[in-house]
Amino acid sequence: MSGGNPCLTCGACCAFFRVSFYWGEIHSEFQVPEDLTEPVSPSRLAMRGTNQPGPRCVALEGEVGDCVSCRIYPNRPSPCREFEAFDADGACNRARAAYGLPPLGNNPVAA
Ligand code: SF4
Ligand code: SF4
Repeated sequence: MSGGNPCLTCGACCAFFRVSFYWGEIHSEFQVPEDLTEPVSPSRLAMRGTNQPGPRCVALEGEVGDCVSCRIYPNRPSPCREFEAFDADGACNRARAAYGLPPLGNNPVAA
């Protein structure tokens, strides 16, 4: 990530959505740390802290809207890898709005 990446001063999506994924990701190439997950169905896990009202992923460090990082970034699960920052359907901006952060346009990193 570059110094201009707005995710580094955001983190809203890590503290807004339930982050669930197929349990096999703890044994996949990602090696998602099992102790940071909890079961949500017979075949799915969620990042701990995200399957509750007022979600916040246990792996999120820092303060949302200020300075944040993911302490398992190389091992984050597929929803985190596939989440489209600055996406067309607005999930990113929806999470940002919940924290009073202004909406982002398309791909501000490349701008
Ligand atoms: S809500 Fe959007 S800008 Fe904020 S960390 Fe997530 S992807 Fe990045
Ligand atoms: S694993 Fe990392 S990227 Fe995924 S929700 Fe948690 S803090 Fe965010």
